[in-house]
Amino acid sequence: MDRFLQAHCVPFLDGNAGLFQAPPERVESRWGTWWISCAAVWVPRTLRAPMMEKESDSMLPPSVYERLGLARVREKVLAGERLNLEEGLRLLECPDLLAVGALAHQVRTRLHGPTTYYVVNQHINYSNICVNGCRFCAFARERGRPGAFELSVEEILQKVRERLHDPITEIHIVGGCHPDLRLDTFERLLREIRRIRPGVRLKAFTAVEIDHFARLEGISTRAVLERLKAAGLDMLPGGGRRSSARASDACSVRTS
Ligand code: SF4
Repeated sequence: MDRFLQAHCVPFLDGNAGLFQAPPERVESRWGTWWISCAAVWVPRTLRAPMMEKESDSMLPPSVYERLGLARVREKVLAGERLNLEEGLRLLECPDLLAVGALAHQVRTRLHGPTTYYVVNQHINYSNICVNGCRFCAFARERGRPGAFELSVEEILQKVRERLHDPITEIHIVGGCHPDLRLDTFERLLREIRRIRPGVRLKAFTAVEIDHFARLEGISTRAVLERLKAAGLDMLPGGGRRSSARASDACSVRTS
């Protein structure tokens, strides 16, 4: 599982807050391995005000941001103003992660105080069999090779049932681009999980899997998403494969 996440998880921009959201961090608990990621919550303004003054003290010196060409970005962050696209891109390209992190921390604490909230999720890989042969990938296996696995719908549902006593709020399902598993299998899976555990958020299938389903079914990626959404899908996880032909040639080898 660790290897798979290394291949598929990438940082991304949170469009609501203009912050970086890091890939999930693993936490060992008495329930086993949990995957957590930050979630935003509302905190009354009266509780935020004292925190805002205190947190602005934790910012790095202005000279740091001047040197990085981010002085205006820093000003806007401290003033609670929204950044524009060009400023967001400058943050994305900034080599000083601490400087960007200090800005993000300031915004986060202004919005949510000193409390950090988490999504508690159950991570399920339905298969590591994949028709793609990305050179960087240590997760995928060819069918029939040692280490290759494939769970049936019932086996996946059993994993969900085994965790019904845990306070899971999100189920995260991903796998390789399997040569035979068809879209109706995953529609049935999502519907069954919805029935067994209503209320849980279903985060499943990276973009590369969606593209793969579309090719298998001979339909558009939009149609795939519409069908999965109708079956209960709430969101896609981050990750997935490169999209340009040039990057594809550089990173991928076919296994067949
Ligand atoms: S598409 Fe397949 S081979 Fe490529 S990274 Fe994902 S699981 Fe690995």
